[in-house]
Amino acid sequence: MKILSVANQKGGVGKTTTAINLSYYIAYFGRKILLVDFDPQSNATSGLGINNNKHKTIYHTLIDEENINNIIINKHSENLFIVPSSIDLIGFEVEFATDNNKEFILKNTLNKLKREYDYVIIDCPPSLGLLTLNAIVASNSVIIPVQCEYYALEGISKIIETIDLINVNLNTDVKIEGILLTMFDSRTNISYQVEEEMRNYFKDLVFKTIIPRNVRLSEAPSFGLPIHLYAPKSKGAVAYMKLAEEFLSNEAKSIRERA
Ligand code: ATP
Ligand code: MG
Repeated sequence: MKILSVANQKGGVGKTTTAINLSYYIAYFGRKILLVDFDPQSNATSGLGINNNKHKTIYHTLIDEENINNIIINKHSENLFIVPSSIDLIGFEVEFATDNNKEFILKNTLNKLKREYDYVIIDCPPSLGLLTLNAIVASNSVIIPVQCEYYALEGISKIIETIDLINVNLNTDVKIEGILLTMFDSRTNISYQVEEEMRNYFKDLVFKTIIPRNVRLSEAPSFGLPIHLYAPKSKGAVAYMKLAEEFLSNEAKSIRERA
């Protein structure tokens, strides 16, 4: 089971859109996947049409009030499973601030998963606080979405530095899965400049697939649907399907290299 976080402390860069649609397409290609909404805003939960008033959520598992296996919801695909979030999660950072194990709470919770998943994808909130720290510590690797706009490079160095610090200080070995260019607008020069800058600087760490700006992607969550079930032929759907293919082919390659 491989665990990935989708993280960037910058808000609105496409973390949740990526977590939802990459998860959906990985499920579509036949892998069993668990999407963990780890943001108190609960956008992944509502974006998949789940009403969290009716369910216990990730917060209740972190405080040991409920077992994680009991709150998993299967929706939209036989292979897609979701751990919902709720606004209660906002209390986590304060409540665990003095806990000796505070960076490992999510990791320990995920260790209790009974069912086998091929992948777990964690959707992070837009900060580098204790929630995101917990997500990164629990992960094998991190996907970093970057919006194609000014100052893209500045924000990304901070998250990479954080991953390095976590690895040194908490004795983990978290990798960068890839940097994902999002909201690419082919009509603006800045999009091309950001792409060039990112590829020059981060080389193969940047996913070949680019996510275009596409209004269908922003509409789908209000219908509670992954893009494939809302507008399967849209540019956004095609791009996220390609991203899942690229991800899975990288996975196959790395398994071959290890063998
Ligand atoms: P937050 O930091 O608040 O969690 P986020 O990084 O998860 O935000 P999203 O919620 O995925 O970002 O995206 C921010 C907004 O932009 C949303 O309204 C979303 O629907 C929209 N959006 C995301 N990706 C695209 C895209 N490729 N094209 C058009 N709109 C997009
Ligand atoms: Mg989000």
